[in-house]
Amino acid sequence: MAVSVAPWIAAQRQALARQGGHALLLQGPSGLGQYALALELARTWLCEDPQDHGPCGRCASCHAIDVRTHADLCVLMPETVMLDLGWPLPEKAQQEIDDKKRKASKEIRVDALRDAVEFAQRTSARGRGKVVLVYPVERMNAIAANTLLKTLEEPAGAVRFVLASEAAHQLLPTIRSRCLSHTLAWPAPEAALAWLQAQEVAAADAPVLLRAAGGRPEDALRWAQAGLTARQWSGLPQALARGEVAALADWSPAQAIDALQKVCHDLLSVAAGGAPRFFSPTDLPAPVPPAGLQALAAWWRELSDALRTADHPFNTGLMMEALVSRARAALHCARPVSPRRP
Ligand SMILES: [Zn+2]
Repeated sequence: MAVSVAPWIAAQRQALARQGGHALLLQGPSGLGQYALALELARTWLCEDPQDHGPCGRCASCHAIDVRTHADLCVLMPETVMLDLGWPLPEKAQQEIDDKKRKASKEIRVDALRDAVEFAQRTSARGRGKVVLVYPVERMNAIAANTLLKTLEEPAGAVRFVLASEAAHQLLPTIRSRCLSHTLAWPAPEAALAWLQAQEVAAADAPVLLRAAGGRPEDALRWAQAGLTARQWSGLPQALARGEVAALADWSPAQAIDALQKVCHDLLSVAAGGAPRFFSPTDLPAPVPPAGLQALAAWWRELSDALRTADHPFNTGLMMEALVSRARAALHCARPVSPRRP
């Protein structure tokens, strides 16, 4: 099912669709809708009957994008992302993965870049120009990045590029400088909440998950769709203090570490006299005495280290147990006298 276009994405599409320039870089932290905005721009540029507010949604071009078969749209993504977002892989790549010759790539492959160069040199099939959409553009190696750069330098014919990034600082400066840059706008919390509820996130879960996601609505939606509830998230710090490994069950190591970092962040923030960002104050254990700050800081550093190897754990179960045991120790060290609150 297609997620309806969020109002803050529609507003940015409208502003950007009128701009010139052949290469646009959409940047900002994850969860703000880089991909959605990039795809909407491609739809608008290629639409046969563009409206004031954006693409018509009815013409053959709009339809071809909806069913992922537009001859003038080239999508460059890591294979894992293409599969997640429902884009077909090239036949050869799909065959290799089906035959278990290799796994789906987590990077944008050099082969795919070469196909894009060829695409850029062809004439437009539908006569409304061509679009190359790259997402997330930081997920390519140096060879692929340089191939992209060459294509950006020599735009062949009527091809426009829309590059979407969740880590623009990792891009070659030469790529950034070739593009007109747009930083994704943060939606107002009310707009994000209304959108989440329109995507069938329960009214009780939406504000808690939006907060858990640091205000990034797409992340909150992804978590809701993965089954995370407000009750689970709010109960996480206390469950960790009790050493419950089940609190992190069903999460990937990277997601678990992200959640632990948020617990740690909020405890540090409260200890420094600030407000928690990802949890409600009542979710957290009692405030940390000054002696506990060092323990929290040490825990934070360990989590940052753990994140680097999270994609390749030696043994996921053992890693989760170790993470929870470490969390428990940090929470108790931070809170030597720890009566459980009702
Ligand atoms: Zn259309």
